[in-house]
Amino acid sequence: MTIQTPVASKGCSDVPVLRERGQREVFCGLTGIVWLHRKMQDAFFLVVGSRTCAHLIQSAAGVMIFAEPRFATAIMEERDLAGLVDANDELDRVVARLLERRPDIKLLFLVGSCPSEVIKLDLSRAAARLSRSHAPAVRVLNYSGSGIETTFTQGEDACLASLVPELPDAAPNAGKSLIVVGALADVVEDQFRRLFDQLGIGPVSFLPPRRTSELPTVGPQTQYLLAQPFLGDTARALDERGAVRLHSNFPLGIEGTTNWLRAAADAWGVSEQHFNTVVQPPQERARKALDHHRERLADKSIFFFPDSQLEVPLARFVSRELGMRPIEIGTPYLHQQHLAAELPLLPQNALLSEGQDVEKQLDRCRAAKPDIVVCGLGLANPLEAEGMTTKWSIELLFTPIQGYEQAGDLAELFARPLVRRSRLEV
Ligand code: SF4
Repeated sequence: MTIQTPVASKGCSDVPVLRERGQREVFCGLTGIVWLHRKMQDAFFLVVGSRTCAHLIQSAAGVMIFAEPRFATAIMEERDLAGLVDANDELDRVVARLLERRPDIKLLFLVGSCPSEVIKLDLSRAAARLSRSHAPAVRVLNYSGSGIETTFTQGEDACLASLVPELPDAAPNAGKSLIVVGALADVVEDQFRRLFDQLGIGPVSFLPPRRTSELPTVGPQTQYLLAQPFLGDTARALDERGAVRLHSNFPLGIEGTTNWLRAAADAWGVSEQHFNTVVQPPQERARKALDHHRERLADKSIFFFPDSQLEVPLARFVSRELGMRPIEIGTPYLHQQHLAAELPLLPQNALLSEGQDVEKQLDRCRAAKPDIVVCGLGLANPLEAEGMTTKWSIELLFTPIQGYEQAGDLAELFARPLVRRSRLEV
């Protein structure tokens, strides 16, 4: 364990960063299946893991009794773990049974877990073998959702990175195109699509798409905007395919959404006047929605534990648009390049921390007595029992929060726990 007390970072920002490497309280990457399986409607996620993995994902996702689930766990029994049976043969049998029963599946993800990694089950070879035997009806890919050295949003990054080699090459004479990268709720995707249309930006596609047949093409004329800050591997894979990233803030709140859209508008040569004509009406609606919450949230202190990797853009939003006072902004990983537009907008007096030494961070949190704490599920209950008001960071991934129309809902996510607490205290 090494701890560095605040030092000036050497990245593209001079914001001092406290780096900690100690015990962490985070969920694993399997959690991403909860929102990814809702987004990709002809994909199926088969976790190759233990009963613990099955329990985690089932309780996180819930089970819809009116629909066939689009995720499952191939549970590795003790004899698999002891190497008494050939895990590959078992896996082939499970996949054949699944695909026979579910002809609607067009894309199957084999999702690695801690147990499959411990016994070194090579899921990339398994995926290649199964792809060959089930082509052309089904494509089989793999990624790791294991909890070894990851945080829960990395599951989405690993999943999308595994999709990038599958994207078809753009035609050599194809013009400029835009890909929005990161799973967005359908309602948010539709709103952004309308705004891009009005701005005259296009063609626009989304990764992940709703259906496998809608995978975007990629090439040197492709520009892409990250909709989420935790997609480092996916961005690298797109760069390797020749695509060019448009640098910007993330589309949280009015300022973030405007800067994000402006990055694309600049690349497409949209005039300032036309840009303003298109964005002013939704900006106005968002301003009204935020006014309502600002009264309750202004000057409230907020402490972010590192969990979702959304902490930096969220802290920028709550401080600049709601007048809240971030005390500590913890993030599991600080991607200096992807956050380059966000870091200068953070309040100077907030402590920015990367990684975690949970006991030390809890001590800092208790000493600061923040009005609200944003943290993972594992810390929320103990902190509530100590009298603190908490917000589960995972909710920020399950709820549509990007774009102008969702700015009010995003503010409400922070206001609601404070309202609940004040009612309890009456
Ligand atoms: S992948 Fe690892 S951390 Fe996640 S549920 Fe399975 S055993 Fe637990």
